[in-house]
Amino acid sequence: MSIAKTIAEIQAGLRSRQFTAAELAREAIADAERQNPATNAFLTFSPERALAVAERVDAQIAAGTELGPLAGIPVAVKDVIVTKGLKTTCGSRMLENYIPPYDATAIERLESAGGMILGKVKCDEFAMGSSNENSAFGVVRNPVDLERVPGGSSGGSAAAVAQGSVPVSLGSDTGGSVRQPASFCGIVGVTPTYGRVSRYGLVAFASSLDHIGPFANNVSDAAALLQVIAGQDRMDATSAPVAVPDYLAALRNTDVRGMKIGVPVEYMKQATGDTADRIHESIAALRTLGCDVRDISLPNTEYAIATYYIVCTAEASANLARYDGVRYTARSANASTLHDMYANTRGEFFGPEVKRRIMLGTYVLSHGYYDAYYKKAQQVRAMITRDFTQAFSEVDAIVAPVSPFPAFKIGEKVDDPVAMYLSDIYTITGSLAGIPCMSVPCGNTSEGLPVGLQILCGHFQEERMFRLARAFEQQRGF
Ligand code: GLN
Repeated sequence: MSIAKTIAEIQAGLRSRQFTAAELAREAIADAERQNPATNAFLTFSPERALAVAERVDAQIAAGTELGPLAGIPVAVKDVIVTKGLKTTCGSRMLENYIPPYDATAIERLESAGGMILGKVKCDEFAMGSSNENSAFGVVRNPVDLERVPGGSSGGSAAAVAQGSVPVSLGSDTGGSVRQPASFCGIVGVTPTYGRVSRYGLVAFASSLDHIGPFANNVSDAAALLQVIAGQDRMDATSAPVAVPDYLAALRNTDVRGMKIGVPVEYMKQATGDTADRIHESIAALRTLGCDVRDISLPNTEYAIATYYIVCTAEASANLARYDGVRYTARSANASTLHDMYANTRGEFFGPEVKRRIMLGTYVLSHGYYDAYYKKAQQVRAMITRDFTQAFSEVDAIVAPVSPFPAFKIGEKVDDPVAMYLSDIYTITGSLAGIPCMSVPCGNTSEGLPVGLQILCGHFQEERMFRLARAFEQQRGF
């Protein structure tokens, strides 16, 4: 039995009794274990947990009862989403042995829908990074080319799908961490509207920017996973009281004729090489589908990276204050005073990128600098959001590149944090505005490296975004 690539294939196999959910769970874990020496995507396997759900699904199939939308689907989960009784490290030595006492809301919903969690996948420490090289547990390798990064920070989630061990996975996106690895690994990745999916149980990096989002081999599987995890949750006050439409029903109509699509001139100005070529071809394909494509302007784009790296570091410095050696797991053995225990614990167990961000964030929030940096960044964030509001008064959707370059070589950018931060140039604006955005494969470079097309829509317009993405996917034959 090979692990099928789509939810529909798997569920057809289960229903026609070609295999059981338990067999599939075992085979999928065995496959992931076989591939782990090469790609290093998984940190922890959870066979008992997957098999417990599998047995429930198999019993439902035997009894002929109605199945959940993810019944018997193997799933991998980024190690920043807490799982009760299952180690959740956030890619950090600080939480190396942390066993959460509860499940994230997304996890509860996923398992209630019949999803089988095979294990936890690697990521940059506390989701800070664009390449997975900031993980305390070794870099994940891109299944497309093992010399290259899978993107970050949800690199393990993208690799697990791209290597075929699972058809879908969960990641998190704060400034691009779902879209960028999806584009680097040649799969679909979705950042929903801020507030669409509960953040309860997503370990906080930058609370006003953090999102849980799905990865899949195709648009409809990503939509199916979002459907299950979306919706208001009383455990997260920022989850929105907005009804969740039936995404799969919306995908039955992929007629996008007349849809108005904007291409931001500020983005295309900077796009070069094969990436720019693939985006131009994608725009031509959208025209073939009958879309009305035109240039738009997002004038404050040039401030996005600076704004993001002030807002996210400020929030991170506050959120990561809780890792003080008193609660959670790690504690320095080399301290005789309380102060030294705090300082040494944080000094010994956080990695360099996390420390850099805590220092930067603490600085921009400090007395005398708050107005000049943090407050200013909040004002510019509002201007960036207004750029999108203005654009969406003229167009239904925006298309753009995901990343200025395809997957780069492991080690290529580790010594230059600013070059690494520039990877996020096209993804950060959507994150700051809190709008839904996604990456959908749009071809390869001449070296055979995947390129992603980014689609962005107005708040809570995931339905429209999925329809456009699906129409594009069909047209391009991915
Ligand atoms: N690469 C960006 C960063 O390092 C985005 C990370 C993310 O979305 N979690 O902050």
